Amino acid sequence: MPEFDTIVIGAGMSGATAARLLSDAGQRVTVLEARDRIGGRMHTDRDAGFSVDLGASWIHGIEDSRLWELVQALGAPSIEFTVGSFQAGGRPIADFDGAARRMSATESAQWVADVDAADHAVKEQISRARPGDTYLDVTERALDALERHRDAMDPERVDEIREFFRHRVEEQCGAWIGDLDAHGLDEDAIDGDEVVFPRGYDELPRRVTAGLDVRLEHVVRRIVRSTEGLRVETDRGVFTAAQAVVTVPLGVLKAGTIAFEPALPAEVADPLARLGMGVFNKIFLQFSERFWDEGVYAIRALGEPGEHWHSWYDVSAISGRPTLLTFAAGPFGQRMQTLTDDAISADAVAALRRLYGESVPQPVAQWITRWGQDPFSLGSYSHLATGSSHGDHDALAGPVDGVLHFAGEATWGAEPATVGGAYASGVRAAERILGRRVDLEAFAAGILLSEA
Ligand SMILES: Cc1cc2nc3c(=O)[nH]c(=O)nc-3n(C[C@H](O)[C@H](O)[C@H](O)COP(=O)(O)OP(=O)(O)OC[C@H]3O[C@@H](n4cnc5c(N)ncnc54)[C@H](O)[C@@H]3O)c2cc1C
Repeated sequence: MPEFDTIVIGAGMSGATAARLLSDAGQRVTVLEARDRIGGRMHTDRDAGFSVDLGASWIHGIEDSRLWELVQALGAPSIEFTVGSFQAGGRPIADFDGAARRMSATESAQWVADVDAADHAVKEQISRARPGDTYLDVTERALDALERHRDAMDPERVDEIREFFRHRVEEQCGAWIGDLDAHGLDEDAIDGDEVVFPRGYDELPRRVTAGLDVRLEHVVRRIVRSTEGLRVETDRGVFTAAQAVVTVPLGVLKAGTIAFEPALPAEVADPLARLGMGVFNKIFLQFSERFWDEGVYAIRALGEPGEHWHSWYDVSAISGRPTLLTFAAGPFGQRMQTLTDDAISADAVAALRRLYGESVPQPVAQWITRWGQDPFSLGSYSHLATGSSHGDHDALAGPVDGVLHFAGEATWGAEPATVGGAYASGVRAAERILGRRVDLEAFAAGILLSEA
């Protein structure tokens, strides 16, 4: 008889959720986690006395969000911080044009209108896309049409929009625009306000796993399945179970650092090969004083001044100190990872000085991530690489031979690349193993009860 009913591999949001639901249902469950901490790509650094979320920070849209329901049930404090896909929910943005000149409110509004027009043209091109078309193909066709239209857009503006499209794909997908499928960017995904977590987002997986049998620093190397169940080999011994839920990131699965025996069948192996894993890194710079206007919550540089460092968010509300957050994603994010922290921060400060002048001070503190180099992540989140489809995400969940389940953001087609997707995929894995629906209100109430 196997030691456990279910082994969950990975203690991120998906693994935490599946493990707790199965354990609440009376199963014997263990969680094997490679790192020395819980949370995976939800990772809050609290060393400085405030929270810095190095991985996920946002719930991107709280309307109809099961994750938001969990947050509310657990009473985790949040702050509204709506980034939107582009528009700022009416809050002031400091826009700089191609000459690094501050744009007026009217010019900013015109920019928003121009991007809107371009987005409509892209949508039309997506509806006509052929299999194998990339997002670059559809945006170029759309921009071409805009340039040839009778009220043709100024070519300089078209170039700025081209640059903006590239950045948007980099940030949302962590990928080069030419590697993303034409259907790979979901522009309508955000419903309702967006929120961040002043106490740190990893509070969620930590609270969900509290009291469970979680074995940290157990690196899974091999998973052998048979009709009797599964044998999971780690660097600290072997564990057996009737079922397993594998929640390691897509980057880890693609790298093949966990051996599956027998090999995964084509139903799972093919989508695994087709989907892409992107790189998205964060750079937080903290300053002794604010040099940008009070109330401005985002700074954007269009055209050439924003070729690399193009958008900055004022996240001072979380630490109570003047702090800007910027991103390095896609090919730039990959390159950035090879530089030292000081070189990265100097480059980012130089970009800010081009906008705000030489008086921009040196940062007093900085936090820089390298998710693409992290062996237990090997990237930031999944995306639709050219030729893959949303169905590939869900196909990745298995189960294989009725005993091997996959969960995690990359397995949730309706909302991949998010904490919400990870949570939902953990619920699905538990429901498949239990063969019934679970009650998420009771799940949250159980967590609160165990904390009382
Ligand atoms: C910089 C960044 C910013 C992001 N921002 C947002 C955001 O604002 N909002 C949002 O919704 N999402 C965001 N995301 C995505 C979000 O963080 C993820 O979608 C989500 O946390 C994934 O959860 P998961 O359970 O699928 O995987 P993970 O959290 O990665 O959990 C998988 C676990 O498996 C473990 N593991 C790996 N290999 C092994 C092994 N061999 N043996 C044992 N264990 C192993 C890992 O250590 C990890 O703990 C962001 C991600 C990054 C990197």
